[in-house]
Amino acid sequence: MFETEREELIKKLRKKGIRDENVLSAMLNVERHRFVQQAMISHAYDDVALPIGYGQTISQPYTVAVMTEALQLQKGSKVLEIGTGSGYQAAILYEMGMKVFSIERNENIYKKVQKFFDENEIRVAVRCSDGTIGWNEFAPYDGIIVTAGSPSVPENLKKQLAIGGQLVIPVGDRKQQSLVILHKVEDNRFATKEVPNFKFVPLIGKEGW
Ligand code: SAH
Repeated sequence: MFETEREELIKKLRKKGIRDENVLSAMLNVERHRFVQQAMISHAYDDVALPIGYGQTISQPYTVAVMTEALQLQKGSKVLEIGTGSGYQAAILYEMGMKVFSIERNENIYKKVQKFFDENEIRVAVRCSDGTIGWNEFAPYDGIIVTAGSPSVPENLKKQLAIGGQLVIPVGDRKQQSLVILHKVEDNRFATKEVPNFKFVPLIGKEGW
């Protein structure tokens, strides 16, 4: 179902500058329409964010592609996601062959996505807690992706990133953020890149809003 729509979406992502073939093929394979609400299904392959309930959204496909590309992960890498939401971003990473750990703070969303992963054999470890603290038990991570907007970069996440890895996080005010890409050069030393003009729901927690 929706094969043509997915192919069209991939073409659009290429036009917008996405080059990583592993990202593009994962996005061609993962059926986004299964992660959106029934009423939104006809818009599943529009390049827009869509509501998933509880005031939250599934990110725009272009945003998912940019963030995933920025992680620069090799197959088999360990990655931590903050903000599981619909599970789409986690499913893309899983499809790419990553070991995925994901944290969701909203209990209703957590229960729903856990069930969805179980039913669809998407083997992602999910936990319900404040992701700004990270998930120390399985650290360090080769990549960390935060899919909600934060006032700053949580210190715990910086600590839990492996040397050589990237931490991708939207940082700004509640209305607008820049995508900040931190590359961990060595302990306590990061090289930073910023891509402006993104809009995420707020990261709520100890080191968030
Ligand atoms: N990656 C998701 C995007 C979901 S929107 C997807 O692909 O659909 C962001 C999610 O982050 C929401 O579900 C919200 O409840 C969650 N969130 C906000 N603050 C959080 C925090 N501190 N820890 C974990 N999850 C958080």
